[in-house]
Amino acid sequence: MRYISTRDNTIQYSAAQAIAQGLAKDGGLLTPCYIPKLPGKALDDLREMAYQQRAVYIMKMFLEEFSVKELTDFANAAYGPEKFDSPAVAPVHTVDENTHCLELWHGPTCAFKDMALQMLPHLLTASLAKTEEDKMACILVATSGDTGKGALEGFKNVARTKILVFYPKDGVSQVQELQMVTQEGANVGVAAVVGNFDDAQTGVKRLFSDKEVCEALEKKGYFFSSANSINWGRVLPQLVYYISAYCDLLRDEKVSLGQSVNICVPTGNFGNILAAYYAREMGLPIDQLICASNRNNVLTDFIREGVYDRNRTFYSTMSPSMDILISSNLERLLYSLTGSTAEVKDYMEQLNAGGRYQLNEKLKDKLQKRFKGYCCDDRETQRVIRSMYDKHGYLIDTHTAVAFSALEQYRQETGDDTPTVVASTASPFKFCASVLEALGETSPASGLDALDQLTTKTGLPAPTPLASLRDKKVRFTQVVEKENMVDAVMSLLD
Ligand SMILES: *Cc1c(COP(=O)(O)O)cnc(C)c1O
Repeated sequence: MRYISTRDNTIQYSAAQAIAQGLAKDGGLLTPCYIPKLPGKALDDLREMAYQQRAVYIMKMFLEEFSVKELTDFANAAYGPEKFDSPAVAPVHTVDENTHCLELWHGPTCAFKDMALQMLPHLLTASLAKTEEDKMACILVATSGDTGKGALEGFKNVARTKILVFYPKDGVSQVQELQMVTQEGANVGVAAVVGNFDDAQTGVKRLFSDKEVCEALEKKGYFFSSANSINWGRVLPQLVYYISAYCDLLRDEKVSLGQSVNICVPTGNFGNILAAYYAREMGLPIDQLICASNRNNVLTDFIREGVYDRNRTFYSTMSPSMDILISSNLERLLYSLTGSTAEVKDYMEQLNAGGRYQLNEKLKDKLQKRFKGYCCDDRETQRVIRSMYDKHGYLIDTHTAVAFSALEQYRQETGDDTPTVVASTASPFKFCASVLEALGETSPASGLDALDQLTTKTGLPAPTPLASLRDKKVRFTQVVEKENMVDAVMSLLD
């Protein structure tokens, strides 16, 4: 299996090179040349396997130079019982006959980022060894909340790496901030940036491309690397849970072999739903992919009109992990739909220049055949949380609620009752205040007290990683101006 840049197919990379490098030098995303097909009886075989074995089977198809033994060790370490509070790892909760919720938040940070960020450090360190990289990786992350904590947990105490996370001082929830500033591990750093998420993100990008800083880093024996979802090592582990969910439905006789399902995903950077698309390309019987957005509905418009236009107001919503106007992974979809790196390059140049591009009719048809786009605002998000809880006794977080709203709209519009898997991306306990309000609580408690309040209200226990934050020491209090982020890097490496 060879990998190419989505903007240039003349240079080919091995899987280890693609993962070690993260981003192609031309700014494109490193992506497999083609998507391999599941062999005829794969689903039958996978049906009986544990999640870890399913992960090995599927990832091996993309990672030729990794041995089964290696991948088995990685999967056992990444998805073991000390990391995930469910032996199923990503269990499927059946809501009603045709609606199944794939719970992706049973890992150490209670959000779906764990599914990939528990695996990425293993893939990355092995890739560095295979490519004979002798420097150590300094991983920089700008986060609006979930990615930062996920990456810290994944990379803590991983040999030959240091990780530094920047979060916007006033841009994350109290639980999210506590999760980060109490982070354990000898190789980690966390700093708050004065400003919003864009300031943190722009600051990180500037560090990456600052020649002087990179040279200083090299002298200390390091190079910069990234843990965000442009790295193939983050997309690949996400294919596994869609195939795994289908196998669970087969095993539990909720679908029959070959029967189609729809998949509905709350979407931000387009990484999660792209993985579902790739699972379909591998031959998993998926019919429609329903792309759910909050009020930042750039993707809804894109799917409906074939125009991507990020020149619009940015809204802060109660599903902050989807507050995003540039969905980076869309570039991989464009490559898959066009099969042409030249065409992708052209669209991306238009996006860089004017913040906008328009698909031609043929491409737009292809997109619309596969994807349906829906969006909703915060009021609707809370209505759905309430109605799911009242009707089904099932508590969901704000991001997952956006997906259930999209599914409801899709079903109303089309009458399609195909069994549907909805990706549930965070524990409701991560967004206590909004969830409590949705359930009718007029004065939600602040900080960790809201966890208890939600437990009292619903009878559900808070996940251990969140409940135990109370006993953790605050380790990181550094606040930097966006101009001085480099100081945080240098002090981590000294
Ligand atoms: C990151 C995140 C999303 C968006 O996922 P993408 O892969 O960026 O589309 C949705 N929900 C939660 C809770 C997240 O943390």
